[in-house]
Amino acid sequence: MKKLAITQWGEPLQLLDAETPAPQGREVLMKTQACGVCHSDVHVWEGYFDLGSKGKMRMADRGMKLPFTLGHEIVATVAALGPEASGVAVGQSYIVYPWIGCGTCAACASGDELMCLQARSLGLRCDGGYADHVLVPDAKYLVPYDGLSRDVACTYACSGITAYSALKKIGTRKESDWLCIIGCGGLGIGAIRIAKAISPARILAVDVSDARLDLAKAAGADAVLNSTKADIVSQIQAQTGGGPHATIDFVGSGETFALAVDTARRGGQIVIVGLFGGSTTLAPLAITTKLLRIEGSYVGTLQDLKDLVALAQTGKLPPVATIAMPYERATEALNALKQGTGGEGRAVLQFS
Ligand SMILES: [Zn+2]
Ligand SMILES: [Zn+2]
Repeated sequence: MKKLAITQWGEPLQLLDAETPAPQGREVLMKTQACGVCHSDVHVWEGYFDLGSKGKMRMADRGMKLPFTLGHEIVATVAALGPEASGVAVGQSYIVYPWIGCGTCAACASGDELMCLQARSLGLRCDGGYADHVLVPDAKYLVPYDGLSRDVACTYACSGITAYSALKKIGTRKESDWLCIIGCGGLGIGAIRIAKAISPARILAVDVSDARLDLAKAAGADAVLNSTKADIVSQIQAQTGGGPHATIDFVGSGETFALAVDTARRGGQIVIVGLFGGSTTLAPLAITTKLLRIEGSYVGTLQDLKDLVALAQTGKLPPVATIAMPYERATEALNALKQGTGGEGRAVLQFS
């Protein structure tokens, strides 16, 4: 098999030959058709996440060994089944759920694989989909996507369920409620579209770029504000009649987190999704006296992926924009994401 691997942090990915694994036990060997390029791939490629004043979280310190193959937004066909695998047939195409736990700890046993401390996530802990074959531990992680575009289906495995899972945490809300979406890149825009399909709440989109705010409007935002304005806190509070009822921060920088806390209304809810990094100084008193509920949200569950696919299959969800490119150009796609020059749409690597 061929795999595009990180051989040195931040350097161009190398195309390597490797032995195609033979599936054991319940494992399923998949032949990759397409794989989305995610912003978190850029951090892993560079070898660290920025923790602001707390330094850097280095992939090497977390046990990642090179060469390593990125890729967690995978659509693939079944190539071979292990002797105990069942429920899927060779040649069928599936979305591969990548956020896989160890399968044996208490968290995994209770079905909460995202809480597993020994995760086997594809493209993050185990080799992922920037390769023509991927080994999946169990057929239960394969989700059919009949009636949907293959490249759009890829994006549901990470960006789709990340937005969906964050929205689920704030509930459906009321028609009179304001939901503030900070950050209108691919994730934020996707969240606006999903929110419009599942919630009657009004949406305020906030970003530093007027061009992205135009996209937010087109996606269904009821109001938009540019956060580079000096009086952005009072503008958000005025627009929402005292502050958003819920804010989802898809940037996750020190600045955007502080903005979410400063603008939240009493009893408001904040969900942090973005992995931008950095840090901020906050007065705990603001959280106490405003009775804020602050929660982190990271990717989503297998059930979230099934629910999101079902929602998309009803036709209520406009498809996200994707940009198909040959998988050999993965480094180019990572650089474009890093520099913010990738154009409007998720890069989706194509195999064969
Ligand atoms: Zn991702
Ligand atoms: Zn586990």
